[in-house]
Amino acid sequence: MTQSPTLSILQNYIDGQWCYSQTADYLDVVNPATAETLAKVPLSPPEDVDHAAQSAQRAFQTWRRTPPTQRIQYLFRLKNLMEEHFLDLAQTITIECGKTLEESKGELRRAIENVEIACGIPMMMQGTTLEDIASGIDEFMIRQPLGVAAVIAPFNFPGMIPFWFLPYALACGNTYIVKPSERVPLTMQKIFQLIDRLDLPPGVINLVNGSKNAVDAILDHPLIRAISFVGSTPVARYIYGRAAANGKRVQCQGGAKNPVIILPDADMEMTTRITADSAFGCAGQRCLAASIAITVGEARHTYTNAIAEAAASRIVGYGLQDGVQMGPVITPQSRQRIEQIIQQGADSGATVLVDGRSPQIPNYEQGNFIRPTILQNVDPSSELAKTEIFGPVLSLIHLDTIEDAIALINSGQHGNMACLFTSSGAAARAFRYEVEAGNIGINIGVAAPMAFFPFSGWKDSFFGDLHGQGQHAVEFFTQTKVIVERWSQNRWSRQF
Ligand code: NAD
Repeated sequence: MTQSPTLSILQNYIDGQWCYSQTADYLDVVNPATAETLAKVPLSPPEDVDHAAQSAQRAFQTWRRTPPTQRIQYLFRLKNLMEEHFLDLAQTITIECGKTLEESKGELRRAIENVEIACGIPMMMQGTTLEDIASGIDEFMIRQPLGVAAVIAPFNFPGMIPFWFLPYALACGNTYIVKPSERVPLTMQKIFQLIDRLDLPPGVINLVNGSKNAVDAILDHPLIRAISFVGSTPVARYIYGRAAANGKRVQCQGGAKNPVIILPDADMEMTTRITADSAFGCAGQRCLAASIAITVGEARHTYTNAIAEAAASRIVGYGLQDGVQMGPVITPQSRQRIEQIIQQGADSGATVLVDGRSPQIPNYEQGNFIRPTILQNVDPSSELAKTEIFGPVLSLIHLDTIEDAIALINSGQHGNMACLFTSSGAAARAFRYEVEAGNIGINIGVAAPMAFFPFSGWKDSFFGDLHGQGQHAVEFFTQTKVIVERWSQNRWSRQF
């Protein structure tokens, strides 16, 4: 075990050692609720990425030869350490990212769940065999690791998102580099303090902090074979193109604009509660947040009043305080951008039914708070109806039929999630059959796949073939090798 870093100047973790970046360029890490500066994060240069990639490549030679049953012992230990430090990790997520402590605990639970599932790798990584594909000839397909892989993560789930990939990469025999969001690097800093206690061979897992410069070095590094990215659509598209042009395997999860349809036969109390949590939970900074609620027929009246009440009564404040239901957004720039979008919506004819702009949160006047906001009569063809807001803003659109609602959803660019609220099985089946989105909720507001299912974004919400989590991750982190084998029967019988 090496010495832990202080939290004031963050370090990278490369080759089994904490080490300072070679950069002179640092960014402040700021608590979005209190505006307190928590630490300085290095914006690592390509030299640091190269150091990590070289170390990971060296480690790969022995790690891939370590039996899967032994590789997962490290994951069992990691799970136990994450459980032991659960509260501290959850508090760190809240302090740097702003979500409530309960939301942070939920996030961390999902991270640990992926570690647990990856412990099944001795089964999940198995290949296939067929004897006698021709007389006396057998054929096998085995899965082998790729080498060095890396994840580039967004700010909104600093604890969970690297774990959609890392445990599977490792269990499959790859070595790994994590590049957290430069806005929320503290959670990974703490998780790597736990990783340091695993006594893994040096270089098996590395941490490189930074922003675009470090990302570009990852995209271009010849030793890095596979890249997982989660973030906004424009960056996802860029990373997919550049990494693929460099011959790498890439999976890029992008942004979203998630619609929910509310039919008149829905349980309105449940629907209101669930959609309010979806739209305003994590201050709307979730790629599975409901962003547009489409009411059909009579649902317009019943739902509108109920959701307005739920938005207005939500308790907003510092996520570490008991009873708080929603925290701030990540930066002052983000808050300003969201407030501008609300204004543009109002200017283009929408009614601001609940206005959460510029709230006063006692004792947290410096925080990036916006209260839940509801825009009514949003024009389906307006920019507001198409732009990812990534804040606690729900747009209401009214349509006459479910067919019109599905057609509107399918005309959108994104395909991360779509949900339906109804008590009709036939409507639910038509919806899941027709809707062009990869994660579907029926009477569910945040259709987040569990670790043993793929996180299935479509359209501009995903670039690639294989998604994160579960069996898709095993396929992403392995390459298939097919062996066709013949042994002379004559020679065999002569031995006896
Ligand atoms: P972002 O795209 O700004 O940043 C993501 C990562 O890319 C960060 O590590 C950042 O350092 C890096 N990056 C940013 N700009 C870059 C550039 N020009 N070149 C190279 N690298 C760059 O995203 P964010 O603001 O951190 O996260 C929010 C976004 O992530 C939202 O759009 C949200 O919908 C999306 N998201 C998607 C999913 C999903 O599963 N589809 C999950 C979570 C978040």
